[in-house]
Amino acid sequence: MLILIGVTVYRLGVLNKTEEIYAGVSDDIDKTPSVIATATIGDSTLKIPSYDMFKPGNLWLIVSKKQPLEGEAGYKLIDIPVPHGDEGAPMKIAVDMSDELQQLVNAAEADEEPLMISSAYRSLAEQQAIYDEFVEENGVAIANQYVSPVGASEHHTGLSVDFSSESDECAEDSDSCSLSQSGAAWLADNAYKYGFIQRYPQGKQAITGVAFEPWHFRFVGKPMALAMNDTGLTFDEVVEQIAPGYTKTK
Ligand SMILES: [Zn+2]
Repeated sequence: MLILIGVTVYRLGVLNKTEEIYAGVSDDIDKTPSVIATATIGDSTLKIPSYDMFKPGNLWLIVSKKQPLEGEAGYKLIDIPVPHGDEGAPMKIAVDMSDELQQLVNAAEADEEPLMISSAYRSLAEQQAIYDEFVEENGVAIANQYVSPVGASEHHTGLSVDFSSESDECAEDSDSCSLSQSGAAWLADNAYKYGFIQRYPQGKQAITGVAFEPWHFRFVGKPMALAMNDTGLTFDEVVEQIAPGYTKTK
């Protein structure tokens, strides 16, 4: 108990270092990975518990073509606790978002927009298989536009899900899942309330590197999701604002 109190006091003490975020400290972050600060994003004040938040195994890791994973990301995975498509093996998500995903799906159901998950965690080997199959069917150019190379998919974290509208076809085969326009609209309006953000919004491909995916949502936690909803910024832009250049130095 004494140790816990000590940690709390320490955290309160360093929460005041707000300026450090904007003070060009990126080069120092690796040396002092436990700096705690706050960032103002739109009307939201975002607490930065630790710059470890941007590392594999943590909530704000960026995974992209520019910043691919070199190995499995190390998130603790659990069997997905909401309705989902059948992809021939147990579907899994990172435990970090389990409660919020259930709340989101329950809320959609209550609003008569029932949802299922068509895709969640993917291992590096599974992503390789998806990419190879897509290349075979559609060619390399289209595959590179719509399928992430191995290591570059956020699905490797277990913090991303693809939503589908609820249907028997989806339940039987995840390849038959699809998201209705009304389902996409519901998610665009409501997902942030549960800590999920649209990772590849319309018109932001130049920033995200990925074409518009109305079905793909990433869990970033409620404070970050609120901040992003306030500003309309992409995840890439907010992370760059919080920790300039940091993600490129990992
Ligand atoms: Zn996806």
